Amino acid sequence: EKNGGGPEIVYVNEAFTRLTGYTYDESVGQSPRFLQGKDTSREQLDLIREALQKGKPFMGELLNYTKNNEEYWIDLNIAPIRDDSGKVVQFSAVERDITERKNAQIERESLISELSVSNEELERFAYVCSHDLQEPLRMIRSFSDKLQTHIGDGLDNDEKGKRYFQFITDGATRAQDLINDILTYSSINNDAHQLQRVSAQELVASIIESMQLTIEDDNVSFTHDALPELWGNKTQLYQLFQNLISNAVKYRQTSVNARVHLGVIDSGMFWQFSMKDNGIGIEERHLGKIFDVFQRLHPRGQYAGTGVGLAICKKVVSRHGGRLWVESEPGVGTTFYFTLVKPAV
Ligand code: ADP
Repeated sequence: EKNGGGPEIVYVNEAFTRLTGYTYDESVGQSPRFLQGKDTSREQLDLIREALQKGKPFMGELLNYTKNNEEYWIDLNIAPIRDDSGKVVQFSAVERDITERKNAQIERESLISELSVSNEELERFAYVCSHDLQEPLRMIRSFSDKLQTHIGDGLDNDEKGKRYFQFITDGATRAQDLINDILTYSSINNDAHQLQRVSAQELVASIIESMQLTIEDDNVSFTHDALPELWGNKTQLYQLFQNLISNAVKYRQTSVNARVHLGVIDSGMFWQFSMKDNGIGIEERHLGKIFDVFQRLHPRGQYAGTGVGLAICKKVVSRHGGRLWVESEPGVGTTFYFTLVKPAV
């Protein structure tokens, strides 16, 4: 009953002496606490003491120290041994050395946390950068307008001059589009406060209304299944559906009328959506890169865009715990699939 009333070691095997560096004689008679040191978790020790006092088994991971004061991790399994009357007379403790696995796990966790810190820094950087670029761009546009007015009639017969002004305006507009998209992309985050019930039916209706002109002008037929309720960030979900619908319309074939269908099926915890078009399709070798920021398959003159839309979609879906993938056949059409969690009832 020394060691503050705690148990005392009565036997250790050879594997124990090899692992710890303590001889049999050095170990027997000691409290098991002689293996613990400064970084051993106090909470774990409290849990062990509590289990022992109640005569209950304990399983868990613990940091121990060898005789040379080297750390090692064990997977500890303590079981009470009772006599015939049911009284706990001893405990058996089986320890497995899990140092390698534990160290690998610790390293992985610290790498992940470093990565997410640097990721957040990068996003903040992109945000600040694009935000601050807006002002000088506005200046370029506004002063090129002023300059044109200032020159006035002088420009009327100056085709070259007019063209140069056009380049300035086009360039600045394009830069503004890019900046807006980067701002959108970098401000998609995990803000749990903004989660709400969202009606996909209403969401899609308002997107279609905003695209009414394009849809009528280009004879696009857009149909959809009955759409469910979703759980998420409304603005982000709007961007997701809107990017996919407008891509389906934008990358249509000129030879046939564009048909776009938004389908949805029940997939357990998730709704699985499909945005199917009969457009130009995407070659297999390009399928991997279309979700990356600024990746485009066509020159700007052919189809307008910044190459950020699908990156935004990917980020929105993954921030909502779902998956986004694509199947496509060139000349036949493309289907984007994505899953979104159902709201809790
Ligand atoms: P953007 O449309 O601005 O170029 P996105 O990130 O939305 O950028 O799309 C990336 C690329 O993927 C597009 O440039 C296009 O080549 C291809 N793409 C996207 N949606 C479709 C679609 N529905 N059909 C064919 N190609 C598509």
